[in-house]
Amino acid sequence: MRISIIGAGFSGTALATELATPNDSDLDVCLVGVRNTFGRGVAYGESRPEHLLNVRARQLGASVDNPGEFADWLNLTERGRDSFLPRLAYGEYLQDRLQSAQALSSNLTCLEYEAIMIERQPGGFRIHLADGSDFFSDRVVLALGALPPQRLAGVGPRLAAHARYIGWPWQDGAIDRIPSDARLLIVGTGLTMADVVATLRRREHRGAITALSRHGRLPQHHLPDPSPVIELPPHLRRALATRDVGQLLRAIRSLAPVVHDWRSVIDALRPHTQAFWTSLSPVQRGRFVRHVRSYWEIFRHRLAPQVAAELDELQVSGQLRIRAGRLLRAGLSTDGSGVDTLIRDRGQTRMNSEHYDYLIRATGLDTDISRTTHPLMMHLRESGLVRADAFGLGVETSARYEVMDASGRTVSGLYCLGPLLRSRLWEITAVPELRASARELATHLLESEQASARPRRAAAAGQRVVKA
Ligand SMILES: Cc1cc2nc3c(=O)[nH]c(=O)nc-3n(C[C@H](O)[C@H](O)[C@H](O)COP(=O)(O)OP(=O)(O)OC[C@H]3O[C@@H](n4cnc5c(N)ncnc54)[C@H](O)[C@@H]3O)c2cc1C
Repeated sequence: MRISIIGAGFSGTALATELATPNDSDLDVCLVGVRNTFGRGVAYGESRPEHLLNVRARQLGASVDNPGEFADWLNLTERGRDSFLPRLAYGEYLQDRLQSAQALSSNLTCLEYEAIMIERQPGGFRIHLADGSDFFSDRVVLALGALPPQRLAGVGPRLAAHARYIGWPWQDGAIDRIPSDARLLIVGTGLTMADVVATLRRREHRGAITALSRHGRLPQHHLPDPSPVIELPPHLRRALATRDVGQLLRAIRSLAPVVHDWRSVIDALRPHTQAFWTSLSPVQRGRFVRHVRSYWEIFRHRLAPQVAAELDELQVSGQLRIRAGRLLRAGLSTDGSGVDTLIRDRGQTRMNSEHYDYLIRATGLDTDISRTTHPLMMHLRESGLVRADAFGLGVETSARYEVMDASGRTVSGLYCLGPLLRSRLWEITAVPELRASARELATHLLESEQASARPRRAAAAGQRVVKA
């Protein structure tokens, strides 16, 4: 049986290494990914030295069995294990891990191409690559990561195609071309904005930076020393069992002021978040996405302390302004010298016309497959092999990771892994949950391989008896 994994970021490589084996195997694993981030993915392959992990090194091993593997790989001291290291180092670790698995295994092949089309065929799928080649695979796993960012609402077509609009800050050295005195408007005030500002600071940017989001909230930050680990208190357990977002929030609010550090409460909830989300009705999920999501994001996905300190410093100096409001319109100015915008501050009715030199999109993970321009995902959606969830969070899947087609039936043999599972699991963007789901899917795939191998082996044994 051949299993092909499309996407060689964290999820794809974690699954590939789970399935790779040095022993003789009937299983053939093919890892397909784009060359520039092969083995690392976007978060750890497109980052720069100033971009830090937002998790302490000690928890970042890529396998469920060994959470300390990354820290061991770097030979870190006890203190180093609690630090927030550059994401580049994590990319090196992932790549090294994949290369070792490939060198030791007899069943893992890596293909450095973009997959552009997947066709359903009897017993499996045909995968078409960007170089024009294609091959058959019995099972396919989509581990594509988040989708490429869509153009910001309100941005005109002339500006969208111009260098004054930076839709993906890490592409083609876009940030490096910004003059150091330029006035910048960044849309987004989350972790991506923090990365952009870290890079600007490293480049000694002097111009004013405005960061805008609907709520104007910055992510919270980790403390320099780890927060104490706490057991989930009984009344929080009871609140989880109510399957009611309001009850859960009230329980968190009542507890946060009485514990040593509120971060411990959020961390204690984390192992229960997926089960809570799956227990919610669609109405409750919708409410969460509309009303709670932006708060959840800033408390759950926290900044490394040194990054938070830099943002504070820039705000105090007046160079960085965090602002709550909406970008209503942005276009290239008539002489092409900048960006004319129309902004409405939160709670105001008046609109302000403002001029900036550059507009940078930093709005974070996009997983909405109904609007995407990702070629493979567009093709899958249009051919009806996948279907979008109701909240723009990703693809609909079964509990065994199989995707649902346009009519809501599971597509046997086509799986999904990574942040596109947010619609089913919500908490599925960071390493601890991703490595657990890679293990779980590997187990399903191995079971399905064994189930399909049994009749083949029995038939082969029968033939040998006949021959004898
Ligand atoms: C900027 C950033 C910082 C982050 N920091 C952290 C952190 O500090 N800690 C943490 O736990 N999590 C962090 N995350 C979350 C991160 O998303 C996950 O940790 C993890 O990297 C997701 O892995 P993935 O393999 O699912 O997706 P990705 O890493 O995005 O990998 C998907 C890969 O598939 C490739 N691909 C897509 N389409 C195709 C195709 N058609 N054919 C071939 N290849 C394709 C992509 O190019 C990419 O290489 C961060 C995310 C981002 C974006």
